[in-house]
Amino acid sequence: MPRERILITGAAGFLGSHLCDRFIKEDFHVIGMDNLITGDLRNIEHLFQLENFEFYNHDVSKFVHVPGKLDYILHFASPASPIDYLRIPIQTLKVGSLGTHNLLGLARAKKSRILVASTSEVYGDPAVSPQSEGYWGNVNPVGPRGVYDEAKRFQEAITMAYHTFHGLDTRIVRIFNTYGPRMRLNDGRVLPAFIGQALRGEDLTVFGDGSQTRSFCYVDDEIEGIYRLLMSNYTQPMNIGNPDEITIKQFGEEIIKLTGTKQKLIYKDLPADDPKQRQPDITKAKEILGWSPKVNRAEGLKITYEYFKSLPEQEIKHKDF
Ligand code: NAD
Ligand code: UDP
Repeated sequence: MPRERILITGAAGFLGSHLCDRFIKEDFHVIGMDNLITGDLRNIEHLFQLENFEFYNHDVSKFVHVPGKLDYILHFASPASPIDYLRIPIQTLKVGSLGTHNLLGLARAKKSRILVASTSEVYGDPAVSPQSEGYWGNVNPVGPRGVYDEAKRFQEAITMAYHTFHGLDTRIVRIFNTYGPRMRLNDGRVLPAFIGQALRGEDLTVFGDGSQTRSFCYVDDEIEGIYRLLMSNYTQPMNIGNPDEITIKQFGEEIIKLTGTKQKLIYKDLPADDPKQRQPDITKAKEILGWSPKVNRAEGLKITYEYFKSLPEQEIKHKDF
């Protein structure tokens, strides 16, 4: 039996590279695609010598061509950290809209099943908590985060339209804050920011008073949930995340304890439209996929800290934001 073939966009990024590993492990032929705008080839360099892995350096906001059959497409290309999408707002809008359109067209031509990476950001600054899939959200379309949030909302809308009008086999995952090895130390997200500061002997910068909450999911759990959703028959959007909610101030204190740093928390201005609370309702994932997260924060943070500590010293010292 020839191997099943899967295209993974955003393959050199944090989640995309873990997905490549997972589908290689499942004995797929994996085609990675990435334009390296926020990714790093080092995340997938261990796959380059494999005969069932190939890589295309390509911007998916431009026409996408892949030779041969494709059984599955995972569209994960997009800047994902607030400082990234503030730096490259137009590319962010384009990859969520034009990029998604190109990949839906490719899926139609190849008769592939396609799963798109959506986000808890479609709920914006939520007026209800926890957020279930039935909540429509509270997004400021013209605020700084609008370029990401609205691109992802459009992505969901066009994916559902292709499903309804073209009968395309689609899946939509709403990913909540995920962490683990291969995050970029300087990507500005709170976990690499805090661990990077601790490793450099700097104070940890809490934005606002730190009372805003997030719920952090370890990457292996997230990948398992995405895998199960892809292999299920469920075509409505589904939350995949860890409901263990924590304030950013408490999270900073946990990182101080974990790293043993002598530094303290310092407080900076809260960025515009920063969501005050975020916690996934994962009832659907539990019932439909039989999925729930297995790795608790203490375990996941320990593994992630070991990864960051193992990076070359000049990388830890270097801050380009
Ligand atoms: P990442 O920045 O590590 O990876 C994104 C990858 O996409 C990068 O390698 C980047 O170079 C590539 N890319 C961006 N624009 C591209 C384009 N036009 N053409 C080709 N490649 C392009 O981010 P991540 O955390 O791995 O996020 C991956 C996906 O998951 C994104 O779609 C993001 O919106 C979604 N997501 C992630 C999280 C999270 O907590 N990590 C939460 C919600 C949603
Ligand atoms: N944050 C912080 N200090 C930092 C970076 C982020 O206090 O150095 C806060 C940020 O304001 C937000 C939360 O941590 O309230 C999570 O931010 P992140 O960028 O990781 O992701 P978001 O969930 O906002 O997309």
